[in-house]
Amino acid sequence: MLLEVEGLCVNYGHIEAIRDISFTVEEGQVVTLIGANGAGKTTTLKTLSGLRTVRAGSVVFEGRDITKVPAYERVALRISQSPEGRGVFVGMTVRENLDMGAFVRKDRKTPAYTEDLDRVFDLFPRLKEREKQVAGTMSGGEQQMLAIGRALMARPRLLLLDEPSMGLAPKLIQQIFSIIREINQQGTTVLLVEQNAAQALKIADTAHILETGEIVRTGTGKELAGDDSVKAAYLGGD
Ligand code: ATP
Repeated sequence: MLLEVEGLCVNYGHIEAIRDISFTVEEGQVVTLIGANGAGKTTTLKTLSGLRTVRAGSVVFEGRDITKVPAYERVALRISQSPEGRGVFVGMTVRENLDMGAFVRKDRKTPAYTEDLDRVFDLFPRLKEREKQVAGTMSGGEQQMLAIGRALMARPRLLLLDEPSMGLAPKLIQQIFSIIREINQQGTTVLLVEQNAAQALKIADTAHILETGEIVRTGTGKELAGDDSVKAAYLGGD
């Protein structure tokens, strides 16, 4: 098992953002967390990348308890996140943003680094074309590609993606999801948080539905996509 989350509780002051969340992620899988606004999806990802402290519960990665390991060390352990709202460094070029993704790597002068850069450029040819462009001048879709590319530059074993389809045109959404699938097929395990449940369930091996901080349903992507109550609550109009 790559990731084991057990009994996770995280608060913002007295607000219980997530309550007793447990799930696992097997190596090679795409696992998705879906749910409405405020369900606790972002908080879960932030906790996994070390940006929130837990009130209770544990996070075990590759058999090691990392519950108290700081965020920068988790990147070195090869957990990296593409945050909600992209969070690219707007004043830096595409290439500088990608280099920032590799900040904790000690092999930046080696072929492994160049290989990873080539991999990102193969997945996102647009980033190669725009290598020297300042990120803040790019479109939302391009910035999303950059945020994912930057996360990949940490050579993650677990890639955390927070709402990669948010704010994108339908055609671009399709493209982003097919690239996520490709990243996974190349061997990277993916934990995907999405409000676009229809698309997320299509590519997920396992899916969990979060409601007000708790996991209320779990199944394969296919099972949940075919379930009437899930359809009514989360797949309306799709
Ligand atoms: P969204 O899709 O809107 O990001 P989400 O499912 O990711 O929603 P979270 O952002 O994890 O949900 O929020 C879970 C709960 O925690 C919500 O009730 C939210 O209001 C609360 N919350 C999130 N961030 C903070 C914060 N910085 N301070 C106080 N409460 C917060």
